[in-house]
Amino acid sequence: MTKIYSAKKIITMNPARPFVTHIAVKDGKILGTGELDELSRWGEYELDNSFEGKVIMPGFVEGHAHTMEGTLWRYVYCGFFDRTDPDGKIREGVKTIETVVERLVEADKKLKDPNMPLSGWQLDPIYMNNKRVSRRDLDKVSTTRPIGIMHASGHIMNVNSKALELGGLMKAGINHPGIPLDKDGYPTGELYGPDAMTPIGVHVGFNRSMTDSDEDGLIAFGKLCVRTGVTTVTDLAARLTEEGVEAMLRITSEKNYPARIVPLKVFLAATPKETIEFAKSLKKKSTDRLRLGRIKAVADGSIQGFSARMRWPGYHNGAPNGLWYTAPDQLSELYELALVAGIQVHTHTNGDEATEMALDMLEGALKKYSSPDHRFTLQHCQLADAAQFRRMKKLEMCVNLFANHHYYWGDEHYKLTVGPDRALRMNACKTALSTGVPMAIHSDAPVTPLGPLFTAWCAVNRLTASGRTQGKQEKITIEDAMYAITLGAAYTLHMDDEVGSLETGKSADFAILEEDPYLSDANELKNVKVWGTMQGGRIFDAKNL
Ligand SMILES: [Zn+2]
Repeated sequence: MTKIYSAKKIITMNPARPFVTHIAVKDGKILGTGELDELSRWGEYELDNSFEGKVIMPGFVEGHAHTMEGTLWRYVYCGFFDRTDPDGKIREGVKTIETVVERLVEADKKLKDPNMPLSGWQLDPIYMNNKRVSRRDLDKVSTTRPIGIMHASGHIMNVNSKALELGGLMKAGINHPGIPLDKDGYPTGELYGPDAMTPIGVHVGFNRSMTDSDEDGLIAFGKLCVRTGVTTVTDLAARLTEEGVEAMLRITSEKNYPARIVPLKVFLAATPKETIEFAKSLKKKSTDRLRLGRIKAVADGSIQGFSARMRWPGYHNGAPNGLWYTAPDQLSELYELALVAGIQVHTHTNGDEATEMALDMLEGALKKYSSPDHRFTLQHCQLADAAQFRRMKKLEMCVNLFANHHYYWGDEHYKLTVGPDRALRMNACKTALSTGVPMAIHSDAPVTPLGPLFTAWCAVNRLTASGRTQGKQEKITIEDAMYAITLGAAYTLHMDDEVGSLETGKSADFAILEEDPYLSDANELKNVKVWGTMQGGRIFDAKNL
């Protein structure tokens, strides 16, 4: 049966017909958009006026997030900013290391099993005068229970002495770039990079690997999607174990699962050849709501964690250069094999040296195996300069910029990490667009909260947490930002023929809004309320999840 929905305004992103009043849906797809009279000519229909006062947009596409956020909400929230949880409750941020410890002490008291690990997430010492947390701070919570807190960047973890002991690291003189040592020669308890974090992670509750969500987590993450208008979302660095894929297939196929998940197999702990073969075999298991068969590579760490790879002159505060997560020859081999196999690769680069390396490796690979429409995408790519955007254009790459960073870490980038000059060019949305590089913008949830309208607000205003505008030349218009969170992101996933706009034949995926983002004051964009979503013709009310 055809259903026709009326709305105050329907923003289609279809260039031939950008704004309409009615949309017809049949079998989970869009039959057409236009006026009621036009749509009624398809034959019998049922008119639904329940969205009469609302604004309908294409369901938002989040091109860089991690479903693990759903799981993390079961751990102790140690973030600096207030944040909305999957049930819509606002959780208060913590402002000092002492308060982090207090919050952990409270959580510790509630745990009955004395051996059960205690886990926290979203810590960011950069807001606390960059005072580092040590194993001694966490030993105040417990010396018998292993404790671990993941940093907001996901690239650093703090653990207590018990956790170090269980992981065999509570000894002097360890020589590892990801394991800094205290004056006493023992590890400080701060662990950098997957190499250092993974073996200890298993003892502190991050035992499913840092990147996986479990079934309850996936369900919780689905709720966050509805609350933020997201209908297609990536899980950008998943291990995708057999068991993990089975769970994802099971949960996403449930009648009421509200989002389409696009997990990317992370290139880690396997050879390029194995990874490509694995992605090829996964691709065959894809369903409408679970899209498998893409790969994510990670070139470096994070800028605020000083683990990103920087070109000259390096970090503004003199911190040593960051870490390579993937060696250049490994990335090169992965690109070559992926181009031949027709498998898409997204590559995390934060520092400009990492971006340069990825560009060099892809250029070399394309010389050997040119591939039309490969859409290899640089993820974050925060510090790219104009010349690097020109190279991306030449190599037909896409970019997904981390717009939310302006707000969350913009002040720190200005003061500490890269300094005033380079801070202005971070996440250069305007340059990407004027150079003609297909662009998306993202939250990298859980690194920052999922919410495409907020991400759009960041790209449009470029305000930092302290209220400064950082890089006004790189601001983009509301129209461009709305494109970036719909078709822009869909394009980077090779899915712009299915989602990202409201056009005949595409999936009936809507973000249903209380107000019109096009008419909002640029400053108010983040306050536009989301009523809920439609995904594949199914309606989800954010107040009733
Ligand atoms: Zn990420």
